[in-house]
Amino acid sequence: MKVASLHRNSWIPVASLVAAILCSCSTAPKLSRTEPAPVRNVDFREAPEMKALAERARQLGNTLYPKVCALLADGDTKFPRQFDLQFKKRLPNGNTADSPPNRVRLNATHARMFRDKPGMLDQVLIHEMAHVAQHYEQPIIGRWLVRSHDPPAHWAEGIADYVCFKLGETNGRCAQCDFSYPDFRSGYSCAGAFLLYVERTYNSDLVRQLNTRLRHGGYSDEFFANATGRSLPQLWMEFQQTAAFTPNAARMLALRQALGYVQGKPPEDVEQRFKAFVDQNADALTRELLKAVRVPAAGDLQARLVGFLYLTQPGGAAETFMARLQKAGKLPGFAKGEKGTLSSFLNADALSVSFPVNRSFTATKRGEPSCYHYELARASAEAEWQLQRAWRTNPDGTVAEEYLAR
Ligand SMILES: [Zn+2]
Repeated sequence: MKVASLHRNSWIPVASLVAAILCSCSTAPKLSRTEPAPVRNVDFREAPEMKALAERARQLGNTLYPKVCALLADGDTKFPRQFDLQFKKRLPNGNTADSPPNRVRLNATHARMFRDKPGMLDQVLIHEMAHVAQHYEQPIIGRWLVRSHDPPAHWAEGIADYVCFKLGETNGRCAQCDFSYPDFRSGYSCAGAFLLYVERTYNSDLVRQLNTRLRHGGYSDEFFANATGRSLPQLWMEFQQTAAFTPNAARMLALRQALGYVQGKPPEDVEQRFKAFVDQNADALTRELLKAVRVPAAGDLQARLVGFLYLTQPGGAAETFMARLQKAGKLPGFAKGEKGTLSSFLNADALSVSFPVNRSFTATKRGEPSCYHYELARASAEAEWQLQRAWRTNPDGTVAEEYLAR
């Protein structure tokens, strides 16, 4: 039996997104009547069908950009007063959005996602507007664009997600470290959650000060010791005791350590190391499942690390449970030794550690038009998977046979 089609986009966040709680900082730039609106121009010529969405984006930008700046203002900082919004047919690397200086570009091919997922547009816009406000590029001096420093990307992305969390437009993302972003060096939600913790615990102006330091250059990790009295490694150790550092993040970091990652970077021979690690630490069924799992970007090492951790989770994955039933000849509808294809859609909930978890699978047999359906549930971390319902349908969708009714 081939097992499990895992859809990568559903379990590895595609883009960095995120953003509520209004900051009422006194340093907030105030828009006067004479001040121009933050969004200077909205260009959707490449995607004319996005007119309505573009108008909404303009309104959101005008309303939210001052709030973004307010969160980062330190009293002296001059933020770009205006920026352009562009809807592009495509963006480098298939990104959902990006932000070259004084511009926010949105990928028009993701329009449906923006339209159908409430909060998505707000979240993406806030993240990118934070980058506009960060404005780390140096000014043009003479004919040269001087970039004397590149601030660490993990803080740039962490601050952008921090702003999203503060403004409450999270689009379902949590301020936490997880499989995809297990370390503050991964940036995004993990660095954002870490900054929230340090700000809350030690210094309410931490992020403003960090942002200013990044803008002016000369950042080093000493910044944290000066701002909090604790070194960055100490702060990171403390943060790992909080709920925002999830068990999934801990497992990913332990796996990375076992593979020889240093400061978030894999060793050159990480592929061989991962293969050897799997051979030593996974049983035959897990190795079989790992090979069967179809990940669109199968070359993506991170996706395969997540796949391994998913399949070896405490209590076992639903896929493993189903494969065991089938091998034992106990999968309803399948005689012992009979093969087929089992597929499932693994969403973010299935990867999370919150219970109860429900999963459903469908299976087919070669040369047979029926479809087999299975519903599973697991009540708690301590509980076993339970098959709750199993039935077979005809090609027209009508139920042909109930094997196990609730
Ligand atoms: Zn970003």
